[in-house]
Parts: sequence; C-alpha cells; structure tokens
Amino acid sequence: AARPADAHKKVDTKAIQALDAKHYMHAFTDTKSLGQVGARVIVKGQGIYIWDSEGKRLLDGMSGLWCMNVGYGRTTIADAVHAQMQELPYYNSFFQTTNVPAVQLAAKLVEISPAHFNHVFFAGSGSEGNDTNLRLIRRYWDLKGAKERNIIISRENAYHGSTIAGASLGGMSGMHDQQIGVTIPNIVHIGQPYYVEGGKGKTPEEFGLVAAGWLEQKILEVGAERVAAFIAEPVQGAGGVIIPPSTYWPEIQRICDKYGILLVADEVICGFGRLGTWFGSDYFGIKPDLITFAKGVTSGYIPMGGVLVGDRVADVLIEHGGDFNHGFTYSGHPVAAAAALENIRIIQEEKLIEKVHNETGPYLAKKFGELNDHPLVSIAETCGFVAGLNLVKKKGPTLHECEAFDSSLEVGMICRGHMFGNGMIMRAVGDRMIIAPPLVTTVEQIDEMVGLIRFCLDATLEDLKKRELI
Ligand code: PMP
Repeated sequence: AARPADAHKKVDTKAIQALDAKHYMHAFTDTKSLGQVGARVIVKGQGIYIWDSEGKRLLDGMSGLWCMNVGYGRTTIADAVHAQMQELPYYNSFFQTTNVPAVQLAAKLVEISPAHFNHVFFAGSGSEGNDTNLRLIRRYWDLKGAKERNIIISRENAYHGSTIAGASLGGMSGMHDQQIGVTIPNIVHIGQPYYVEGGKGKTPEEFGLVAAGWLEQKILEVGAERVAAFIAEPVQGAGGVIIPPSTYWPEIQRICDKYGILLVADEVICGFGRLGTWFGSDYFGIKPDLITFAKGVTSGYIPMGGVLVGDRVADVLIEHGGDFNHGFTYSGHPVAAAAALENIRIIQEEKLIEKVHNETGPYLAKKFGELNDHPLVSIAETCGFVAGLNLVKKKGPTLHECEAFDSSLEVGMICRGHMFGNGMIMRAVGDRMIIAPPLVTTVEQIDEMVGLIRFCLDATLEDLKKRELI
C-alpha cells in the first residue's frame, strides 16, 4: 500500500475533479456550484488523519461523517472483509436462510446493548433503520389492537435520514420543503432542547424540563390514545450537536412511560462509544424500546445499519406470529457483519469506550472548554466525543445576551473555510461549529486539534475584521 505521503502521486487532481463535476451528483450538494470550484479529492486515511490528492494532510475532526470510530487504516478489518468475501460474499436472509457472521453479530449486539434488547433487524444504513422503525411501530400497535395509535412525535431540527420515511421523521425544514406532498402523514414535531436557542431566563435544568414538557403538551394536543411513539437522537448530531440539559431525558422517559408510548432512540451517531458509553441511552440512563444503529457499528468500513428491537416490541411480533413484510437485499450482509464483528472486537480490545469515558472525553471537555475565552465564541461544550461551539459577533455578560451574526453572512462557512485551509475538518451548522473525532484520538492529538481550532478561530476573526463584518 502507498504510504500516506505518496498516495496522492497516483492521482491527477484536475482530471478527477473534471470527471466528478461531469458525472457525480453529490449528497446534499449544489452540483452546479461544486462543479465550479471542484471537489477536494480524498485519497488516503490513517488513524485520525486523511490526505487529499495534492498531498495535504487534514485532521479529521468529524470521523468522516460521524462514523470512523476506530480510525482509518485498520488492516484487521480489511483482512476480515477479504476473508469473508472469499468464503461467502453474499447470501440473503429471506428464504429461511442465514449466515454465520450475521448471526454472530446479532448475538454480539445483544451482548453489548441494554439488557432488554434481545433481537436485531439488519438494514443497510441509518435511514433504512428508521424506515424499519416506522414499520415496526405500526405493526406493534396493529397487533396490540390499537391501530389508531399511528402518530409519531419527533423534533424540529432532528436528523433521521434521507429516505422519505427518514426525512419525514426528521425535523429539517429544508428537507421537508423539497418534499411537499410526499412527507409521510401523522408525523408531528416538537421543539428541540437547545438551551442557546430557547433557554433565556432559565437555568439549563429548568429549560430541560420545559423542553421535555413540549412532548406532553403535544401528546395531549393530538390525543394520548393516538400517539404511537416518540423518536429522538440522544444528542442531536447533524442538527448541530445539541446537547440536552441533564433534566431532559429523565423527564422524556417519564412522559413516555406515563402514556405508554414507544420510545425510539436514534443512536446512529451516539451508538458504539461516541459518548463514552456503548449507547447514548446508557449515557442518559433511558430505556428505549427501539434503537436505530448504523455508522459506528462498522466504523463506516462497510455500509450497515439496523434496529435493536427491545423485548416489548419483539415479544408482541413473535408471539403473534405472521410475516413481518419488510427487509432488504443487504439485510444481514455477511461481509458487513464480518467488518462489524472485527470493529467491535477492536473497540473492546483497545478499551476505546473506557478511554473516552475516563480519559480522553474529560480531557477534550477541558481543552475544548478553554475555547470559551475566545472573542468569537459564546459557548464551547462537549459530551463524550462530540463538541460544539457558537460563533457570535459580540460577547455579552451572559450566553443569552451575546449578539449573533446575521445568518445570511454564513460566518460558519467562512470559519469552516479557514479550518479546511489549515488542515482541520470541523463542520459548520449555521454559526455552530462542531466536531466528533475518532474514538482513538489521543490526549496529544486533542492538544493538536484544539490548537488548530484556536488558530483557525483567530484567522476567522482577522478575516471578519478585514471584511468589516465585526
Ligand atoms: N439518524 C441519524 C441520527 C443520523 O445522524 C443519520 C446520518 N447522519 C441517519 C439517521 C441516516 O443514516 P444514513 O445516512 O446511514 O442513512
């Protein structure tokens, strides 16, 4: 294999960019404007770093797309995949057939998940996992003789994927707007527990109870006997690393229990160690009935997703019997399962979750928290190995008295440009800058990462002054 420093030499950047612009429609991208600037061509990854086709090294603060939990360049995953491909590259699970890695993975997932999870439904992605949830929820209430319980409550600014079901469950208005007429009915949304946005005049703990109360209000508004489920990410990821106040989840759990509605935790990001626990549900002490997983299950080496099906739902489906008419060609793909098994073995052998929990997570909290002193930053906060900071025009005496930038200025994107330009991958969600680094990131690498972030915040500040935006 080419060494990282050499990998780019094989690639003609301009030619690949031209072909890319001509033929490749990227996800969530304005194809026309990307074609004008040209995509950055990524050619190599090792540990927490990636290299582009010009030989430039970038520190991947986003773990790819929140998925590279064990980092790049894991040859044992490549070996497991290679061996499985030679043995049995594919077989389906439709014809009363199964395969060994998928069975072993199901058992492994049951072992590492909370005790009341004893079944797994495999899919190919997080979106397909949430499509599966929709089907499971409907089937469950149908079998319980309560078909009228068909309203699902979700949250504004949630991300649950980009299939029609995923986008309908999600709360991204941009995705709804583009889907007029095709969003799935009977999915309603409540506000998100975003203290910066809604917490003025309250402590975070007070605000957490208020935000959870919106669930009860919505249940009463639509009728408790109509509500099937509540779905939420333990920490919202794509929405901007929205870390709920400590009071939020216990109150949500209480409300779900009170009205007997199913609780679905979308753990596509939070699962597999992201918060320093196997699942975000462990972190917040909640007991969901269904857990969506993807990303970290294979650390992105091979696509895979699915649903952990809790006993409450599984028992009803199994005891009643009858086909569950749902599934995918790639449900339980043996090669993806082999990658997942090796990925989980690495997480366990290297004690990555314990490390994030005990050592590197607290260290990231301390170092990232120091960015609170930066003149552009109103708040910098972490939860395990996700972190976010808000860029503001002028700091005030309290968080809610800071002056925001006009959103049309897209200051977050300006900042992201400085990050990329200086070798740091940090994502912008509006004016909130976020990271979710690989779980293998060391204390020394956290120093490097936060140092880079500070350097780029300084560069952003200078740039904004020059443009007379501040
Ligand atoms: N749910 C959550 C919480 C996610 O973050 C994502 C992906 N970012 C998805 C679902 C969708 O997963 P996929 O892109 O694999 O379909």
